[in-house]
Amino acid sequence: MKKVVKFGGSSLANSDQFRKVGEIIRSEESRRYVVPSAPGKRFPEDTKVTDLLYACYNKAAAGEDFSRELKEISDRYYEIICGLELSLSLEEEFQQIEKDFKAQAGTDYAASRGEFLNGKIMAAYLGFEFIDAASVIRFDKNGNFDADKTDSLLAKRLAKCERAVIPGFYGAMEDGMVKTFSRGGSDITGSLVAKAVHADLYENWTDVSGFLVTDPRIVDDPAVIETITYRELRELSYMGATVLHEDAIFPVQKEGIPINIRNTNRPEDKGTLIVESTCRKPRYVITGIAGKKGFCSINIEKSMMNSEIGFGRKVLQVFEEQGINFEHVPSGIDTMTVYVHQDEFEEKEQQVIAGIHRAVNPDFIEMESDLALIAVVGRGMKSQRGTAGRVFSALAHAHVNVKMIDQGSSELNIIIGVENRDFETAVKAIYDIFVMTQL
Ligand code: ASP
Repeated sequence: MKKVVKFGGSSLANSDQFRKVGEIIRSEESRRYVVPSAPGKRFPEDTKVTDLLYACYNKAAAGEDFSRELKEISDRYYEIICGLELSLSLEEEFQQIEKDFKAQAGTDYAASRGEFLNGKIMAAYLGFEFIDAASVIRFDKNGNFDADKTDSLLAKRLAKCERAVIPGFYGAMEDGMVKTFSRGGSDITGSLVAKAVHADLYENWTDVSGFLVTDPRIVDDPAVIETITYRELRELSYMGATVLHEDAIFPVQKEGIPINIRNTNRPEDKGTLIVESTCRKPRYVITGIAGKKGFCSINIEKSMMNSEIGFGRKVLQVFEEQGINFEHVPSGIDTMTVYVHQDEFEEKEQQVIAGIHRAVNPDFIEMESDLALIAVVGRGMKSQRGTAGRVFSALAHAHVNVKMIDQGSSELNIIIGVENRDFETAVKAIYDIFVMTQL
């Protein structure tokens, strides 16, 4: 059994958290490859080290004195080192960082130091080998991630190594120039390492006990999802549920390696297992509910639209030309409605309307704003009668007016459009009918 374990910033925010992590790693021989993030927040108002690094480098780039900011960062690391009673010095590393900042080494380099330094501490604490991610995670000369090169570099390097710490979030181009992934990118590094070593499991340790059936800001203490497929996860994350970086899924999914989301503060919890497919029945008919506010709909009517070949394409082309993404396009015989993000659309509104008039000469166009979309996701829905019925009777009982319904052909989700102000009520009502009534 071979596991890759990634620990998020809150799991490594101070020496107490480091100790918990150490215990978790030492409790299983199979936890051989460790991917740490930079130290995160120790308390809600705290600042993540990555953010301190960005701020510090901004000063350096502006030619201002950044010694106070750099000292604040080194204090964070020394707090951890002293708390763990390690005899490690990061003196040389900090001298190098100061020099590189003065030489304007770049924002990505600056941000990457958070993981680099934390990786050094983690390796010393565990007695594992330290492998600089710059030597194994590769970006091409245009700065795009190079998956094939990375996979072969990682596989080759780790084949020689029983146990190692590989810092998350960054890599380098061929010429050594450091590049980072987007924020939260240590999840991606963990996934790449898991793929390269053909791990049996990729454990992603964070500060929640897995994915929750819905947003805890809407429903108190929602149930945890025990097993979720990659496709279900994609649907939920797209609608705003975030625990894992989106790009972290692809590398392991391709290899059929499951991801287990675990809680560093509650290692006894099993967390959520993310798998390619499973015959395990979900505990409730639905797997999760997620949603977002801030959409608007553009309703286009034209009589005999149904017999006008190319109508839909011409309308959507107008959105494309204005660089606007569409979310859903429910249609009727003589109507077609396009759902878009309100903030993206507002600026281009009049150009789009004029464009549609020119392209298809509609009878009229009507717009509605302040709408929310809710996705009810679940692989279990396919084989269950009455799921849609339950969703809509719950919404009717909660006095929520449904503006749009879209059941994807995959039968993996039902998308419901409601007014922004009904959003929370609707999510609660759906949660209650599927989860609360089953407890
Ligand atoms: N430290 C980086 C961030 O704060 C990357 C990560 O934590 O995954 O975004």
